[in-house]
Amino acid sequence: DRANSEPGRPRIIALANQKGGVGKTTTAINLGTALAAIGERVLIVDLDPQGNASTGLGIDRRDRNTSTYDVLAGEAPLRDAVVATAVPRLHIAASTMDLSGLELELGHRGDRAFRLRDAIGVLNKDIDPPLDYTYVLIDCPPSLNLLTVNAMAAADAILVPLQCEFFALEGLSQLLQTVEQVRANLNPSLTIHGIVLTMFDSRNNLSSQVVADVRQFMGKKVYDTMIPRNVRISEAPSYGKPVLVYDLKCVGSEAYLKLATEVIQRERELRTTH
Ligand code: ADP
Ligand code: MG
Repeated sequence: DRANSEPGRPRIIALANQKGGVGKTTTAINLGTALAAIGERVLIVDLDPQGNASTGLGIDRRDRNTSTYDVLAGEAPLRDAVVATAVPRLHIAASTMDLSGLELELGHRGDRAFRLRDAIGVLNKDIDPPLDYTYVLIDCPPSLNLLTVNAMAAADAILVPLQCEFFALEGLSQLLQTVEQVRANLNPSLTIHGIVLTMFDSRNNLSSQVVADVRQFMGKKVYDTMIPRNVRISEAPSYGKPVLVYDLKCVGSEAYLKLATEVIQRERELRTTH
């Protein structure tokens, strides 16, 4: 069993949903920034071959000489892939398209699901002086493939972004089933940290109906904080900036700060109940 509260060990949260376009990457970037803004030391691990988290944080492709592909392929330690962002206390291990070939390359190797877990396991110990991350956020690809399984095998908990749209709940049971399988076979202590409703539009009745349904179905697992649909959030990545840097005062930034305090609050509750 893994000691979740070991000092020097970061809390590892995977942002997962096999649907694309639901706000995984946006939440990784902006929750990461908000956590860093309130004093946490955060590493984002970009596990999507698209590399949107890396680009959205302004990491040039030329600065991705070592990437999460090299780490999962066993060719480099995770610390070599880490680069600092413009946000103090926020680092990222960037990804490249190579990552899309990893599943085939790893074939049926016995440790193929544990590549990321093992790389994170030595991260804080490996560096002198230690980087001492308090949070690792893993941005998963839009698929339940080996990359997402690596994230789930490495994580303490899953954070699920759900878009407030008609098909929001579709696919959720499949995601929860995968979490169950990972728990049974790879990572018994994996939990669901919470579900965050994204792109909420208060003027849209459908959005409110979806919120009511998801809250009824998933109960207290749903965070109180909802992320509104906000044009500033969608503009920020093209400037290579988190929305909190691009426009700190907008409703999107406010929401991600609120989500960060809720995540930390939930962490405290998890620690005291275990
Ligand atoms: P995923 O990583 O799940 O595929 P993204 O985070 O990339 O999803 O979001 C998909 C698209 O929606 C992106 O263009 C992003 O800028 C936009 N987006 C995400 N969240 C919001 C929001 N709250 N308001 C407006 N646009 C958003
Ligand atoms: Mg994404």
